[in-house]
Amino acid sequence: MTLAGSAFGQTMPAGADTRVWDEALKIHRKAIIVDGHNDIPGPLVDEDFDLATNSVGRFQKNGGTPFHTDLARLKASGVTGEFMSIYVGGDTWLAGKAMPRAMDMIDAVYREAEKHPEQLTMCTAAAEIRRAKKMNKTCALMGIEGGYAIENSLHALRNFYRLGVRYMTLTHNVSHDWADAHNGEVKNNGLSEFGKEVVREMNRLGMLIDISHVSVKVMNDVLDVSKAPIIASHSSARGVRDHTRNVPDDVLKRVAQNGGVIMVNFYPGFLDERTSKEDTDRSTRLKPQLDELRKQFANDPQGYNEAERKLFAANPIYITDYRRIVDHIDHIKKVAGIDHVGIGSDFDGVPYLPTGMKGMEDLALVTYEMHRRGYTEEEIRKVLGENFLRAFEQAERVAGNRQISGQGSLKKIK
Ligand SMILES: [Zn+2]
Repeated sequence: MTLAGSAFGQTMPAGADTRVWDEALKIHRKAIIVDGHNDIPGPLVDEDFDLATNSVGRFQKNGGTPFHTDLARLKASGVTGEFMSIYVGGDTWLAGKAMPRAMDMIDAVYREAEKHPEQLTMCTAAAEIRRAKKMNKTCALMGIEGGYAIENSLHALRNFYRLGVRYMTLTHNVSHDWADAHNGEVKNNGLSEFGKEVVREMNRLGMLIDISHVSVKVMNDVLDVSKAPIIASHSSARGVRDHTRNVPDDVLKRVAQNGGVIMVNFYPGFLDERTSKEDTDRSTRLKPQLDELRKQFANDPQGYNEAERKLFAANPIYITDYRRIVDHIDHIKKVAGIDHVGIGSDFDGVPYLPTGMKGMEDLALVTYEMHRRGYTEEEIRKVLGENFLRAFEQAERVAGNRQISGQGSLKKIK
């Protein structure tokens, strides 16, 4: 694949050795790359955003930074499988709108694939991702973020599978009726009995269980119950950055036994303590100005975004750079092994990316940094996609071996 003619060529990092960079790009373009998490479906639904629209210069509602994703940047990134996040938050659940929200987002992803068949194709199986690579196409895959979406119904879970959903993050940031979130209240002491039934049913279907966002107790309960490899679709290593959204070392060791994959999140706040602290301090310091802007632009979200962006630009903080992503990959490699680490960018789910990364088009920086640190081509390919494909294929095999069971809803299974 050549990037000539693309509006977004990958930018070589300052001071990089051209030979090492060229070698890295060669490995990158040959590899099957699967990214565990992308939140662009939100804007697809809420703003009628079309992926053909050049997203640079547009501004996210809550973050003030340009989108990270559009068709041209997706192509430049070299990604073959992009997991579009069917994100349903705790607030949507509490408002009683979890399932319809998920339905809107699934439809939006299908519509993008229908509008842009020359580049996008809906994929639901590992073999389809491998085939898409040969056809030089990009797979749109879907994962539900937030188990609220199934509204305590295995009937709904099965229908989401039939619609093409291939993983489910059991919670977002709010604990619910059958699983506890990483920073939420302890409602179930981990997974409830119904929660365990959800995991078993996901195994039977061939839907991957995603332990991003859940409490450590839920991570362990899932590992106790699941017969198939699990994933963390967008979480980093707690051993490098102690944050509840990241995965602790003892769980990493269990994931190695389970055959699963921890797909590293690129959000600077999850990667680096200093960035996180400076960000929090800045928000506290600028609160009076931000409150004032909110009043001033009460009916003009674009105007607010622009004003917020300017205010933040005038008050810069330390933002860790892309090399920090590879510190997390190194750590997971050390603790769990090279077979259990992947990438889960969280593009368009985060207000900003590590220094050096403007959006999807800069994904090759991660490959470059691994290559520079001496990772072999085989190791790099594992991290970029082969580990995920192996786990997915294993989950498909587990599904093929399991019988239909009869359970239906939380009411029946307490
Ligand atoms: Zn998330």
